[in-house]
Amino acid sequence: MGAKEKPKLAMYWASACGGCEISVLNIHENILTVDEVFDIAFFPCIADFKVKDLESYPDGYIDVCLFNGAIRNSENEEMAHLLRKKSKIMVAFGSCAYEGCIPALSNLTTKEATFDKVYLNNPSIDNPDGILPQVVTKVAEGELTLPAFYHTVKSLDQTIEVDYYLPGCPPEPHQIWAVLQVVVGALLEGNPLPPAGAILGAGIKSVCEECEREKSEKTIDRFYRPYQLVPDPDQCLLEQGIICMGIATRSGCGALCPTVGMGCRGCYGPPDGVIDQGAKMLSALASVIDAGDETMEDDELEHKIQAVIDTIPDPAGTFYRFSMAHSILRRVKNGKGDS
Ligand code: SF4
Repeated sequence: MGAKEKPKLAMYWASACGGCEISVLNIHENILTVDEVFDIAFFPCIADFKVKDLESYPDGYIDVCLFNGAIRNSENEEMAHLLRKKSKIMVAFGSCAYEGCIPALSNLTTKEATFDKVYLNNPSIDNPDGILPQVVTKVAEGELTLPAFYHTVKSLDQTIEVDYYLPGCPPEPHQIWAVLQVVVGALLEGNPLPPAGAILGAGIKSVCEECEREKSEKTIDRFYRPYQLVPDPDQCLLEQGIICMGIATRSGCGALCPTVGMGCRGCYGPPDGVIDQGAKMLSALASVIDAGDETMEDDELEHKIQAVIDTIPDPAGTFYRFSMAHSILRRVKNGKGDS
């Protein structure tokens, strides 16, 4: 980079909802500083960049790429490889790129079942001929193409090498700003970059450790969905029977959801030292479930524990809502591989 050149910034949206882009705009007036400090080299969500623009850049031309979204289809994968080639620093931005997030919940089913639900057996769909998306469709003018839809949703680091991770669904504006400052400090002032693979803009402990709700030793004999209960404003939500993933989730958000009475959903992924967020949550729940006492027969005990577990709707979707692609399970077996 020459003395007067600004660092080049890219942001790309793969399989995601768009919230990550909005979160970047939520850094408020700092967005003007971003514009001042960086040259925006590729950011299709906010300006009319084309893939051929990106292809025309020399390798490593982009200083930092914020890649959000999971790898759901062939286009996501091709763009990830292209952006990796063109970027010096690749950041998995947000939960979808980091761990698969909501798109990766479809790893609990198959491509065929997903298509069936979306295009065939769905009350809001009128598709009498049962037409499904095709990779190639011949029309009078030639061939129309669509990206290939994969069986398995992958995280960004299951596809390309990632330098840093910025968790959150979406990341909080203060995190984004902190990370951009680190990058700018390194590029313009020669400050050291964090070690490769670092999780930026978040803590290392669990959300419980930054949550101010009162914790005590309590067992739970059933769970409630948030609409079924008006929670005590001061007591730990989990102890009131509301599923809260705080104990299995990385700190850094300031316990935003528990503070307003909504259980932590787990969007920052697991804290340091935890490999599988869902397994950690299951083990935490096992220690608080009211399992009866030593006078009970095994059958009775099993029945009682099952009755408590049955009050958790969609356990897999609840415990792996954000981390399915990165979990030990990764996907249910379908014998079809990834693509
Ligand atoms: Fe707070 Fe939830 Fe942890 Fe309870 S389980 S202390 S409500 S973050």
